[in-house]
Amino acid sequence: MIFQVTHRDARTSARAGVLKTSRGEIHTPVFMPVGTQATVKALTSRELLEAGAEVILSNTYHLYLRPGVKVIEGAGGLHSFMGWDKPILTDSGGFQIFSLAAFSKVRKDGVEFQSHIDGSRHFLTPEEVVRIQCSFGSDIFMPLDECVKYPSEESVVEKSVELTRQWAGRSKEAWRALVREDGRFEKNILFGIVQGGTIARLRKEAARQLLDLDFPGYAIGGLSVGEPNELMAEILSLTAPALPAEKPRYLMGVGMPLDLLEAVSQGVDMFDCVVPTRNGRHGTVFTSGGRLLLREAKYVSDLRPLDEKCPCYACRTHSRAYLRHLFNSEEHLGGRLASLHNLTFFIQLLQSTRRAIEEKRFHEFRLAFERNYNEEDS
Ligand SMILES: [Zn+2]
Repeated sequence: MIFQVTHRDARTSARAGVLKTSRGEIHTPVFMPVGTQATVKALTSRELLEAGAEVILSNTYHLYLRPGVKVIEGAGGLHSFMGWDKPILTDSGGFQIFSLAAFSKVRKDGVEFQSHIDGSRHFLTPEEVVRIQCSFGSDIFMPLDECVKYPSEESVVEKSVELTRQWAGRSKEAWRALVREDGRFEKNILFGIVQGGTIARLRKEAARQLLDLDFPGYAIGGLSVGEPNELMAEILSLTAPALPAEKPRYLMGVGMPLDLLEAVSQGVDMFDCVVPTRNGRHGTVFTSGGRLLLREAKYVSDLRPLDEKCPCYACRTHSRAYLRHLFNSEEHLGGRLASLHNLTFFIQLLQSTRRAIEEKRFHEFRLAFERNYNEEDS
């Protein structure tokens, strides 16, 4: 058993659990910092550990193009290449191929695309994407999928669900073949990804088809791509319960603090999002009282820490006034400190959520958080 649900909330579908990987346990609900280019932007691995990270994300598309599979293999895998020895989840890069590549076209066996870096042409199959992630030594990997834009015609979404299903089957088969060849790969975990845009019928259909393939875990993809928040919550509320209760559920690319708590209440266990680091680099920090835009004049002499309750290095050492000064002087340290703080805040939010579920007070915890947290920038 790679995943064990240890506690369930009585009122909602929220649960606490443990996901076991060969590089350590991941305690869920969990927030996974995004390290697309084999780096969580501006932070060292030591700082990620201090922030409480148990697992980070990286991206197959980006690393396949640069520095390339050979360089990472030569370094002994992604963990030693980047100096991080806890679990790594690699996204397949399907989302990036279809959204970032200069050109992409689905062929019979896979997808042809042009690199957004140097315009070079590439062709990747679902099998190759699984093999690349094995070469990286990822602990959790994702199959090649197609994520449609929002909004998309039902017929377009239907076609992409069918393609994603075929690719999921081929990915699973490729993974099985690798395990047969080399027993070490048995410890890697391959998730299935439920697509289906914002069309309820197709979401349910996509979930049902993937269950037949019996993946060790399931991801919900294609949300938080521009649809209204209520629609995201609605689609999530019918997709999450369609997934097996005993397996981990991962909501890809979501989201803001209140979205995370809503998704936890729907039974989601794993999250990743660029929000903490991207916002941090631009001078926005998240606190238990809401967001602070550090460039604002009102912080010019504010000697309080970013968040009184936060144990991070930035909050222990510096004031809002100092961070505002760094941002206004275009000093790199500002973005680093704000990123460190934001990641600590997001990781701790889910750690506190987990404790609340264990102690049977998730409802009270969520109400108190929502009461203090101001969605509007303060
Ligand atoms: Zn802090």
